[in-house]
Amino acid sequence: MHELGIVFNIIDSVDKIAIEKNVDSVKKVILEVGEVSSVIPRYVEDCWKWAVENRSQRMKGCELKIIVLKALSYCQDCEETYPTLPSGRKCPKCGGNHTYLITGNETQIQSIEVADPPSDK
Ligand SMILES: [Zn+2]
Repeated sequence: MHELGIVFNIIDSVDKIAIEKNVDSVKKVILEVGEVSSVIPRYVEDCWKWAVENRSQRMKGCELKIIVLKALSYCQDCEETYPTLPSGRKCPKCGGNHTYLITGNETQIQSIEVADPPSDK
């Protein structure tokens, strides 16, 4: 299960950002996952709950939100851009297979929410 490795990577990246920004606690991470990436959101969520409690003090209790990005492909024969699912490599317009994936294969951090800094009132 490679999701755990991915989750550790994300946590480490977020942790690094938190250190740079002098943040003590990260509340929420929004992650973009491409529709045809090899990452399965449900597994990521399962790993996440365990990993945030054990990997970093700053990430304890941090919530994860996954946004699935639509996959898009481009056909070089007829210059059509089409949703990769369900057509796959075959262009739905001209039936050609000189196509490539434009987007939908990535896993990236979209944004991070941090806890409010303690006020000294
Ligand atoms: Zn085409």
